[in-house]
Amino acid sequence: MSNRCDGCNQFATIVDSYVPRQDPYSKEPSKVIHLCQLCVDEDIRNWKRFGWMPMRQIKAAYEEQLAKDMGFIWKKDSIDGQGIWVKPAKIKKGKYIIEEVIDDGIEGTDRSD
Ligand SMILES: [Zn+2]
Repeated sequence: MSNRCDGCNQFATIVDSYVPRQDPYSKEPSKVIHLCQLCVDEDIRNWKRFGWMPMRQIKAAYEEQLAKDMGFIWKKDSIDGQGIWVKPAKIKKGKYIIEEVIDDGIEGTDRSD
């Protein structure tokens, strides 16, 4: 099946997809992001460089292996009731690390008030 990849905007074979987290300030529901193999490979390289996992409403298939490679586990029922990837060592340090990650996943959140 050939379709347009949302990563590189080229027509390509779609091998993976995910749904980004809903922007709390947007009324529009999150759209499915389709990715070709090149974009999946680049995504994986980028996340490995960041040393952290993506925060998505619906995970991409590649995230399971990426999490294994980087030592993350899926923790359900987090602060927003969904779930997040966490490193077991960081859970033990308290919830500050987890909150930090959620804030990183939502751009433009103003918490100064
Ligand atoms: Zn692509």
